[in-house]
Amino acid sequence: MQLPANRAFVSHVLTPVAIVVVLTAVIITALLSWSTRSADHSSLERQRALVNLVLEQSVDRIAYDQESSTVWDDSVRQVNAARPDLEWIDANLGSWFNSYYGHDEVHVLSADNRPIFSMQAGRRVAPAAFAAVRAQLQPMVEELRLRRAPQQPRRLEVAMLSPGIQDIAVVNGRPAIVSVKPIVSDTGEIVQTPGREALHASVRYLDGNFVQRLRDQYLFAGSRFSWVDAHTAAEASVPLVGRSGTIGYFIWKPFAPGSSIAGDLRPALLVALIVVGLVLTALMQRLRRRTIELQRSEAHAKHLALHDVLTGLPNRALFDQRLSEALRTMRVDRTSFALLCLDLDRFKQVNDSYGHPAGDELIREVGRRLSLAVRADDTVARMGGDEFAIIQRGVHRPGEVELLCMRIVESLAQPFELASGQGFVGISIGVALAPQDGGDCTELIRKADIALYVAKRSGRGRYTFFAEEMDTYIQERQLLERQLRAALASREQLEVVYQPVFATRTGDMKCVEALVRWAHPTKGVLAPERFVPLAEEAGLIEPLGEWVLETACRSAQPWRIDRLAVNVSATQLRNPQFATIVKRILARTGFEPERLELEITESCFLDKDEVSRANIAALRAARVRIALDDFGIGYSSLSHLRDFAVDRIKIDSSFVGAILPGAGGSAIIQAIVDLARASDLEVTAEGVETTDQLRFLSKVGCDEMQGFLMSIPVAAEEMAKLLQPTGEG
Ligand code: C2E
Ligand code: MG
Ligand code: MG
Repeated sequence: MQLPANRAFVSHVLTPVAIVVVLTAVIITALLSWSTRSADHSSLERQRALVNLVLEQSVDRIAYDQESSTVWDDSVRQVNAARPDLEWIDANLGSWFNSYYGHDEVHVLSADNRPIFSMQAGRRVAPAAFAAVRAQLQPMVEELRLRRAPQQPRRLEVAMLSPGIQDIAVVNGRPAIVSVKPIVSDTGEIVQTPGREALHASVRYLDGNFVQRLRDQYLFAGSRFSWVDAHTAAEASVPLVGRSGTIGYFIWKPFAPGSSIAGDLRPALLVALIVVGLVLTALMQRLRRRTIELQRSEAHAKHLALHDVLTGLPNRALFDQRLSEALRTMRVDRTSFALLCLDLDRFKQVNDSYGHPAGDELIREVGRRLSLAVRADDTVARMGGDEFAIIQRGVHRPGEVELLCMRIVESLAQPFELASGQGFVGISIGVALAPQDGGDCTELIRKADIALYVAKRSGRGRYTFFAEEMDTYIQERQLLERQLRAALASREQLEVVYQPVFATRTGDMKCVEALVRWAHPTKGVLAPERFVPLAEEAGLIEPLGEWVLETACRSAQPWRIDRLAVNVSATQLRNPQFATIVKRILARTGFEPERLELEITESCFLDKDEVSRANIAALRAARVRIALDDFGIGYSSLSHLRDFAVDRIKIDSSFVGAILPGAGGSAIIQAIVDLARASDLEVTAEGVETTDQLRFLSKVGCDEMQGFLMSIPVAAEEMAKLLQPTGEG
């Protein structure tokens, strides 16, 4: 049970859940990495824009810084003086720009472009230092002398007062912002020739404190300058573009907010995922256990529904399924199979004498023995009570079925060791073969049942194969049974006739034997042999017997005879109430008990039945006489005479018929009469048809005689006429 349950759980629950969990994890991860990347990307773009802005502002700022001293009458006067005051120039146009604005170099050029002052890194140097930057500055200087109007700064809010030219260029082998401005009058009082002003050039290096400032003020981590765009994966770059093109790159480690958030989230997500995983695992575990439990109880319930509790064998429902299955396989594979219906013999006796627990024990053992007799792919089922059925698959010859039947009959003939003693049963088997006997379940079961019925009737402990003629026989029998039931209910067709029995010595009519007749509507008058066994099987013998007894008692009550003989079947005698029923009928009809003789057969003693014995004893105690009918044809008649207290024996007609005229007669009859004499029993001979027989029987001393020679059975009215109490007799 464990494995299929597990497999179903894995395929129906575990796999889908695992797929959902993994998919969710993948989607979350993908979303996270996408949002991380897009956040990082837009942040980087913003940082690039900021770098460019800062650069542009720095360029404008330098020009603007310069205007603090270059648009000033004093400066114009000083730089145009015949002997410029270099101390003053340094203080106002040189070192001051370094200390106050952070400009790295300043050069002041006269109207004819001659350097008159130079400052580097906050210190005044010889104007010759200008030579080092001339190459970069010369084109700007010439362009500026041509330009008139002050340009608008790109980023600064305030307007420029004087024209100027700015560039990002390589100065002294370093990247730098270079700005050249004319030194002009702020009041306009000093008149200057346009293009002939002294010029002020400022240089601000970008690889020094400028980079430092970006790092500190704008938080560009790890910012540096590089001549080539050689940055690592974690860095970003912005080109520094001057008038002559790109001169180098500004590189920094950009702040990545997405990655940083993702970095913070990752452990938390991982923990959440682990927790979810653990919770799901626990839930799955529980669900799995539940599923397995459920499937187990389901399988158990299914098993219970399809199996017999006592034997554990398949029950009728499962048997029907298997039979349909066998029929399907048969149609596909063109194979044959046999259906065996089995019924225990004498099970009721075991049950009655040892009790129900012993009966159960025996049924279990029968189930075990049957299972041992068949092959693995055959089916043994308990159909209820003491009935079983077997499907024998893959039958090639009827001989194989016969072999199985023989095995089973032999196996069940062995004694059963029960807790309360040894039990003996037997089994009768009816066999139907598929496809020859039928192609559907009902048909096959019906035919196997008919065969079983025939097996039972022909003496138990045997097997019978179904034959077509059994079918018509059974159908007729069923019809007859229905008709008998109706006849018994209406009583119109039933009649009791009476055959006289005479005393051998005197020839007087001593007794009449009541014999039942059935005036069948189509078959004519039927003898008891035709319907008494049927009544026994159909459970109708008791009402029939009671009716005969009551009718006979009523009719014979006024007749002048010693005795009325009535036949009783073994089934009637097995009813514990039988003696009481008889006494009640006697009381009802006013028939004297000592005038009644009940005829029983030896079969009543076969099973050593305690109830029958008790009934006989009770009846004899009530002065009813008992005769042993059909004596001599039973199993061990003579021994029964010792065991059972009876009053009379009736020698069976077959012995009477065997009396040889002239010769020694019959030694058996002689022996029986001698034995009866010795046992103090009276003897009646039945079926006397010839005078030879009559003579022999009177010679050996038989007490009474009955037979067609004297009289056939006659109707009650006729007998009444013969035996009128008030007649002349
Ligand atoms: P049985 O008790 O041995 O009855 C005698 C049978 O022998 C009767 O047959 C009778 O007609 C027949 N018989 C009498 N004389 C002669 C003769 O000279 N030659 C031949 N060949 N037969 C003769 P019946 O009436 O057909 O009854 C047959 C059996 O049916 C009876 O045998 C008895 O065992 C049974 N039976 C009859 N009536 C009843 C009944 O009411 N209840 C029960 N349980 N069984 C009955
Ligand atoms: Mg009789
Ligand atoms: Mg008889």
